[in-house]
Amino acid sequence: MKARKRISVSGIVQGVGFRPHVYRLAYRYGLSGHVRNTVAGVTIEVQGPDDTLGRFLRSLESEAPPLARIASLSVEEVACLPGTDFTIHRSEAGEHADTLIAPDIATCADCLRELLDPADRRYGYPFINCTNCGPRFTILKRIPYDRPNTSMAAFGMCAQCQAEYDDPFSRRFHAQPNACWNCGPQLAFLDAEGNAVGGDPLAQTIDFLKAGWIVAIKGLGGFHLCVDATQSAAVEELRRCKRRFEKPLAVMVPDVAQADSLCVVSEADRALLESPQRPIVLMRARSCSGLPESIAPRSPDLGIFLPYTPIQHLLFARGSFAALVMTSANLCEEPICIENDEAIDRLRGIADYFLSHDREILLRCDDSVVRNFQGRTTMLRRSRGFVPVPVTIERGLPGVLAVGGELKSAVCMTKGEHAFVGQHIGDLESLAAYQFFQESIAHLENILEWKPSLIAHDLHPGYLSTQWATQQQDVRTIPVQHHHAHIASCMAENQLAGRVIGVALDGTGYGTDGQVWGGEILIADFRGFERAAHLNYVPMPGGAQAIREPWRMAVAYLDHAGGNCLEEGLPFLGSIPAGHLEMVRRMAVQRIRSPLTSSCGRLFDAVAALIGLRTEVSFEAQAAIELEACCQDRMEDGEYCFFVQEGECRAIGTASLFEQILADLKHGVSQATISRRFHRGLLSTLADVIHRISLSTGIQDVCLSGGCFLNTHLTVGLDRLLRTEGLKVYTQSQVPCGDGGLSLGQAAIAGHLGDVSWR
Ligand SMILES: [Zn+2]
Ligand SMILES: [Zn+2]
Ligand SMILES: [Zn+2]
Repeated sequence: MKARKRISVSGIVQGVGFRPHVYRLAYRYGLSGHVRNTVAGVTIEVQGPDDTLGRFLRSLESEAPPLARIASLSVEEVACLPGTDFTIHRSEAGEHADTLIAPDIATCADCLRELLDPADRRYGYPFINCTNCGPRFTILKRIPYDRPNTSMAAFGMCAQCQAEYDDPFSRRFHAQPNACWNCGPQLAFLDAEGNAVGGDPLAQTIDFLKAGWIVAIKGLGGFHLCVDATQSAAVEELRRCKRRFEKPLAVMVPDVAQADSLCVVSEADRALLESPQRPIVLMRARSCSGLPESIAPRSPDLGIFLPYTPIQHLLFARGSFAALVMTSANLCEEPICIENDEAIDRLRGIADYFLSHDREILLRCDDSVVRNFQGRTTMLRRSRGFVPVPVTIERGLPGVLAVGGELKSAVCMTKGEHAFVGQHIGDLESLAAYQFFQESIAHLENILEWKPSLIAHDLHPGYLSTQWATQQQDVRTIPVQHHHAHIASCMAENQLAGRVIGVALDGTGYGTDGQVWGGEILIADFRGFERAAHLNYVPMPGGAQAIREPWRMAVAYLDHAGGNCLEEGLPFLGSIPAGHLEMVRRMAVQRIRSPLTSSCGRLFDAVAALIGLRTEVSFEAQAAIELEACCQDRMEDGEYCFFVQEGECRAIGTASLFEQILADLKHGVSQATISRRFHRGLLSTLADVIHRISLSTGIQDVCLSGGCFLNTHLTVGLDRLLRTEGLKVYTQSQVPCGDGGLSLGQAAIAGHLGDVSWR
């Protein structure tokens, strides 16, 4: 019996070779009909014998292209039509676009083989791609994903490329960025002023890198600043120019074998390194790596990634580099440069040369950063390769734009059951970042063809994101407390709906009492929260200055513990001028320019400073990271006690903690042992408080979120302790547990508060 079926497919099905996949199947099974992209995804009509249609349907899913992600598939019977051929129809424009856009994907194995094959017509062509790889998100202006809507619109295809583009049996059928030497984008090598330098651009780049110069290289989502990672003078010059003095630099290596010579690479790390997203993977550095210390000073980890664009592959293939530093081309924490003129202007005094090209990047997108620890993958920065793949959330909530916080900013837009977390913006403290923030929102609105009716923002009135949100006209705005948003982010990605015990540990978040929160245990759901426990309040002498100078926090905590650090002659204060020290102590005691904080990040800072790890930091969480790194004394099973004051909201006291550390310091106990005792004490105190809250409320689900959970001792340790108590523990892997994941939680909360149907 002959039948005709209409199949509607939604998900990531455009720009990933889905229509040619359908065409090839129809050809294989001898079916007639057509396939077309719609605003909702792909619609297929196929006609043929019943049993063949069944086989077609099974193959449709089981043999789907590697980058496709089918979210839903519905089939309906329609009337048979005359005709025997199968055709691919043009895309249509529409109002309610629900198609998911694919992220940018690393060069695939087939393209890489052609790139390095002297007999191939694209041998050495720096923009080779196909339907299985190449740029997507960063070259897209608007949907549907068709060439005229991308920055490839500027390039007409030559006859050969066009033939591939039109051939359903070609790997380049409807590959929108399809191009070759004859018709596509070309490289250019420029000096610091933007003047073209003659010769082969790639060969020039390799020569100048080998000679120790800094070259800015245009990548997928922006420029990288690149130097030969084995030349310490070049690395130090890059740091000096970029004003990035200590924060580790990411290193690109040609393959996993080379990564393994620098770091301890687990099977999970290997899978992450070689994944189509090609993130930067943080791994434990080998002591014999041979790289200069200045790549990642005092850091036990290195951030490593593999080449993901043809240009990067060619640099390694032709330059035989062991490792290249590839760091976002920007000044410290500012947005990455994308436009050629912008790069030359903003990188003045940093880049000596530019390897540029004429394919426009329409959207900035930094490299993503992940870490795997004991089988658990943590996202430190979610950007290229992952954006704009949505997180699936509860259905039926109104659309929300959530604008995030201030540090490591990222926005989020919800539409139906999809939450689209935008790319990493950086710290929303400069005009450039603020512009990028607005670009990010506008681009999401554009590619989703969607303007949400609600805006969620942080409670902090001073954040630029809050100010932007409250200036918007004709839209309801909903303020969300920072730590509530962290917990909701964890709930949303784990699809929890009921009440949870939320453990939110981070550096800074504006509390409902106007103080600086950050060591919080909440009882929360999407509609509200109670503060069930927190670290005790101590003053932050000088406010933000106390974040940059952790010794100030040590002084504040010691003072809170009742000691007078000035009289003790503590070694860590040796470098602080006496007058300065006295002034800071007076600020703390008299509460002059000293907001109160319950921040867990500041507690880590104070302990790190007190035991002599560092008195000042040059990037966020630096002292805390070093305190975690020195927690090495695995034989030590002692722990420090905290005093927990019972009450409606428990206060976790730190006074006795500091007395114990002081005593250990006097007895010459090592930093490694003190760090271990501190971690263990904090863990068992938290576990004990959580356990008691669980007993009194009956809640068994515990969500861990906030930047402190990037500390693996904390996450793994608390997870283990709580599980032995029979509690269910949820952590984050799809979005960062730090402030990069905040907007997802804000969106989930505002979606529920803005949804009037439940009242
Ligand atoms: Zn490819
Ligand atoms: Zn061509
Ligand atoms: Zn936070």
